Amino acid sequence: MDIEDINTIAVLGAGNMGHGITEVTAMAGYDVTMRDITAEFVESGYEEIEWSLGKLAENDRITEDDVEATLERITPLVDLEEAVGNADVVIEAVPEKMEIKQDVWEDVSEYAPEEAIFTTNTSSLSITDLADCTDRPERFCGMHFFNPPIRMDLVEVISGADSNEGALETIEELAESMDKSPVRVHRDEPGFIVNRILVPLMNEAAWLVDDEVATIAEVDSTTKFEIGLPMGSFELADQVGIDVGYHVLEYMHEELGAAYEPAPLIERKVETGELGKKTGTGIYDYEDGPGAEIPTDEGSDPVESRLVATMANEVAKLIGGDVATPEAIDEATQLGAGFPDGPVSMADDYGLEDLLETLEEAYEETGHERYAPAAYLRERAEGGGFYEAEQEGDGETDFETVRLEYPGEMVGELVVDRPHRMNTISSELLSELPEAIDALEEDDEVRAILLVGAGDRAFSAGADVQSMASEADPLDAVELSRRGQRAFGKLEACEKPVVAGIDGYCLGGGMELAACADLRVASERSELGQPELDLGLIPGWGGTQRLRHIVGEGRAKEIILTADRYDAETMAEYGFVNDVVDNDALEDRAFELAADLAAGPPIAHRFTKRAMAAGRDDTDAGLEVESTAFGHLLGTDDLMEGITAFMGDGEPEFQGH
Ligand code: NAD
Repeated sequence: MDIEDINTIAVLGAGNMGHGITEVTAMAGYDVTMRDITAEFVESGYEEIEWSLGKLAENDRITEDDVEATLERITPLVDLEEAVGNADVVIEAVPEKMEIKQDVWEDVSEYAPEEAIFTTNTSSLSITDLADCTDRPERFCGMHFFNPPIRMDLVEVISGADSNEGALETIEELAESMDKSPVRVHRDEPGFIVNRILVPLMNEAAWLVDDEVATIAEVDSTTKFEIGLPMGSFELADQVGIDVGYHVLEYMHEELGAAYEPAPLIERKVETGELGKKTGTGIYDYEDGPGAEIPTDEGSDPVESRLVATMANEVAKLIGGDVATPEAIDEATQLGAGFPDGPVSMADDYGLEDLLETLEEAYEETGHERYAPAAYLRERAEGGGFYEAEQEGDGETDFETVRLEYPGEMVGELVVDRPHRMNTISSELLSELPEAIDALEEDDEVRAILLVGAGDRAFSAGADVQSMASEADPLDAVELSRRGQRAFGKLEACEKPVVAGIDGYCLGGGMELAACADLRVASERSELGQPELDLGLIPGWGGTQRLRHIVGEGRAKEIILTADRYDAETMAEYGFVNDVVDNDALEDRAFELAADLAAGPPIAHRFTKRAMAAGRDDTDAGLEVESTAFGHLLGTDDLMEGITAFMGDGEPEFQGH
């Protein structure tokens, strides 16, 4: 079954997940039958969908016509035979009980068309065991949506022992057609990727309290404010439901051994029914107490080391066991758990040798299997990191396309260093930029970052268009857009204040890069703009999202849709540039501003940036749309027309294909 052959999808279960999956599936244009065991349950799922679509329309995310059309594609049903009789794909989201799912799959095997692909949304049951309840284990896999499906981009696509590649690819394409980001899990191990990272983290947090290494406040303060995860470990456990995590943990304990023994604190909470927010009390008290009030300043280094080492050990087991690639682990955890940086990169940043030492010491002290270092962790600690480490012998980083300078007063200067090509952004630069940012972030002597272009012609004149057009395969181009978004996003997420000193051209990708700085100073002669639409493209490195946060949507649309070039003064009026200075004064003024910020309070800087970023609307969803569109455009004739006209200085004649 290929993606083109998929028209009708059956979703089994109209509960929490089932109704959400039905909604995104119907929004993607498929006919959906949504089945539950009673008319009331189906009706209630349908009402939830109506409510959610209504909200989307209210916020102008879709039109009233879209609401109507989506609802028309959904058929609520109680009769199983009718629900699956004509289905090309079945997505099962019935309760997380093996006996229930087993019965469902036996019945579905009887009624569904022979060629239909079967998928399950299970979080904590074996995909292989479920596949074995059907008549087609080779066309069965996990399709693990996150809650709520309408908002969460991630779908883990999990291979059972017998799943064939064709079926897995079709399900990945199906997820993409729903505007989701599928991530492949190659082996069916408990927790897949995201829960395999989160659940042992929650367990370790609880063990640290049980072993009296730290208090609950210390653990959560460390998780949230030192490691920088979106929530404290316990706060997250309460949010998800302690029983839900416990379920996955039990399964891990059973399948993967003593390292996953649940901490007594978790067992006690499950026994007493204090399961988190949903029961009013969990680790924190939400009914009579203030809930998860986490102190900002109780973090501790030993707790940080143990928590990060625990994640690194899980990562090593996942990669070493061929369950998932480092890229898949980082992407899944960022999308599914909102980690600002993936656990693989995080572990590399902390240094695997140190983390290994932490595990070894803790293992010696406690004798508990959870601290036994994975063989692959040892291997990569020797090899210098999980990602093919481009580390230099002495830890000094040597870049080709960027340069780091230290002009004093706690300012770190990041120079885009391709003056012969107007500092255009190449693929190599996209790889080096995150590392350069890391180097500055980790440097305690640096309190503010100054971003400039080498030479005096350009801050950056945009993407290296010629090298990009050769990546005309839409999928490569989608990836190129995502890579750029990630690299630039890293600058935006940087915890130190960033000043961009703009002198000369600041166009396209260059302007998108400047938009990730906190403040911008420009010389009078600078020219700024987003010329992508003149090329038949769109800004693909965050431009459709970030610019509007700075200048407002009206001006952002003007800048992008007209593709005009603007002088620095106009850009200052629009609010993009904070200060315009004489050409000769730019260097000094930009440095002064950076030095000024460097003298400010680092923690307050960090929290100001975090809070402002957290308060934005759903940019990730926008970024996802942007990269898909960018990929599409890179394969069009209009792009060639645009580039040819651009090179020859003529006017392009776009044909719309
Ligand atoms: P839920 O209890 O909200 O919904 C399950 C629904 O299935 C109920 O409406 C129930 O009446 C119905 N049902 C029971 N037997 C059925 C049958 N034979 N045929 C059709 N429907 C039947 O549960 P949920 O949270 O939606 O979870 C469903 C699945 O999704 C589980 O496997 C769960 O592990 C997984 N999951 C849940 C989440 C989450 O955050 N809730 C996230 C990812 C995956």
